Amino acid sequence: MQCGGNAKQTSDALADCRRLRLRTWIRGLWLFNMREMREKTMVHSALLLLLLAPASSMFAGNVRSATAVTWQPANPVRGSAVLFQVSTPRGVRELSGRWFGRELKFSPLDNKGSFYALAGIPIETAPGSYDLELNGLRSTGTFHLLKKVRIGQARYPRVAITVAKQFTEPNPEQLKQIDADKQIKQAVFSKTSEAQLWHGDFRPPAEAPTSGVFGTERVFNGRVQSRHLGLDYAVPSGTPIRAINHGRVLLAEHLYFEGGFIVIDHGRGLMSLYLHLSDFMVKEGDVVAAGQVIASSGGSGRATGPHLHLAVRWQGIYLDPAVVLRLQVPKYW
Ligand SMILES: [Zn+2]
Repeated sequence: MQCGGNAKQTSDALADCRRLRLRTWIRGLWLFNMREMREKTMVHSALLLLLLAPASSMFAGNVRSATAVTWQPANPVRGSAVLFQVSTPRGVRELSGRWFGRELKFSPLDNKGSFYALAGIPIETAPGSYDLELNGLRSTGTFHLLKKVRIGQARYPRVAITVAKQFTEPNPEQLKQIDADKQIKQAVFSKTSEAQLWHGDFRPPAEAPTSGVFGTERVFNGRVQSRHLGLDYAVPSGTPIRAINHGRVLLAEHLYFEGGFIVIDHGRGLMSLYLHLSDFMVKEGDVVAAGQVIASSGGSGRATGPHLHLAVRWQGIYLDPAVVLRLQVPKYW
């Protein structure tokens, strides 16, 4: 049977032709749907594979997805201390890192791969993202991770200060003493224990209000400029001064600018400095506990009056002591 446009076809033949065309059309539609379904199935399979790929690599030991890095304070700024806490994948036994070109050694927090380390941010750092590089040792090889840490904007105040002339224009003899003090400090600051001597929360050195914050730009007698790299406590002479954490006394001496000066090493480059003291209760080499009385306050050295100047150093960087004292140090369990 032919289904052309022949006008002579009978009505029966025409009806047959219509039925045939309808069947062909339905079959065509069915074939088209089948092809589309096949293609769709292929697309779905590909999508499923794409979705499963990261999951499978995660289960195969993708360290990035199994590692958690947190820090205190949550929004650090230049001059802040930073307490890093890292949960590593199973099997990491040792963790070290690099931060602002300095070596970081982590201490274990538990036996499940959690570690912590205290570091700091140089005061001249511009806001932005900075790399925390982590390197670990695991039974099956090594572990590496690069984490971006956002450092925010910080504004520090500016004040004018007047002190006795001898501290801004020292004579040749005083200059000699200042130079000798520099040598002493350099030698002291280079001595730090490889082991972490501090543990647990930091404690204030005195129960007294603070009178001068960290970071303030100071203009001495309208000329000499410096930055206040410590925290001042308004305490009268003779107030007991306590160690902010466990450590070892590196120096207990009278220096020109610092006056009665104690330096405590807390290990791994962390030190606390106590200035303008009158009497020492500890000597070089003594091991001290957190909260132990180490001295009496005073107003010696370059000071506007009796007070305690507390400074905290980490690998040559001065940190805001107020931030250090606020850290909630995780406990080993
Ligand atoms: Zn001060």
